[in-house]
Amino acid sequence: MKKFLLYFFAFVFICFLLPALFTKQNIKVADSEPQEEQQNEEIILEPKYDYKKYGTIKLLHKETGEVEEVEIDSYLYHVVSAEMPADYELEALKAQAIVARTYTIYKALHPKHENADICDDSTCCQAWVSKKERLSRWEEDKRESNWQKIEQCVNQTKGKIITYNKEPINAFFHANSGGTTEIPVNVWGGSGYDYLQVVETAGEEGYSQYASEVELSNDEIINKLKTKYDDIQINFENNEDIKILEYTESNRVKTVKFGNHELSGVEARTIFGLKSTNFSIEKQENKVKFTVKGYGHGVGMSQTGADAMAKQGKNCEDIINHFYVGVEIQEINSI
Ligand SMILES: [Zn+2]
Repeated sequence: MKKFLLYFFAFVFICFLLPALFTKQNIKVADSEPQEEQQNEEIILEPKYDYKKYGTIKLLHKETGEVEEVEIDSYLYHVVSAEMPADYELEALKAQAIVARTYTIYKALHPKHENADICDDSTCCQAWVSKKERLSRWEEDKRESNWQKIEQCVNQTKGKIITYNKEPINAFFHANSGGTTEIPVNVWGGSGYDYLQVVETAGEEGYSQYASEVELSNDEIINKLKTKYDDIQINFENNEDIKILEYTESNRVKTVKFGNHELSGVEARTIFGLKSTNFSIEKQENKVKFTVKGYGHGVGMSQTGADAMAKQGKNCEDIINHFYVGVEIQEINSI
């Protein structure tokens, strides 16, 4: 009887308990697979990056004169959130993060300020906004999610910068190219950069920055021109007296005639307060109408163009390679 019981328990063990143990193990293995995948995905999403050379930068706060040593990516949260609307596509914001990181390193290598790498003034170096101020300008229910989105786009591009011939590029950008970007020579003179060429982008016309108009009375035209040319004389009856004489490679105004003076497109943009040099002129009764395309100098990445490309399914690297010709996206430590 004892023997029978022993055989019985052995039979039960082999038939039920042993398979159950294996089954349990199998379930465990099956369970662990998606977890592993998830972990891998997390690593891809948030790459760990060791900033050996450029861990921190010295940021000059222009108003107070204070120089603050800040960790580069937390600095970039404040820059990206100041430079691009948070409701733009993630890939466009990621492109902006790479551009801002590149610009920061470029400035650290070519400093303008004595005791700092970069300042917080957009007209001098690069825009920067405090988190408190940034949040206060967003609608209350979007504050948390917007800031998280900005952090995400900086973290997901950790360590990445744009290079040309292994050097960080001078990563110019602007709001809206009007469909075609400009080369820097036509804006600032000089010799230009090989990676900044005329490129076309579809989809920018859907943004509010694309089209604008400025209407000025003949008197206003004269008064504005007088600030620079006090001998200005225009015969508004003569069609030849106000005329675009020459266009740039990107079809922006290169030279325009106003009476006895010829102005560059850039000069005319400043004097008449136009959003870009991509404009046409129409003389009307006692006034002049400028019809303008795009917003900004037009050099490098167009922010609305980046957003339009992201909406068409392009990623941040596609966007960067579109606006900066022949560049590479490298890790900071490798330069
Ligand atoms: Zn500065």
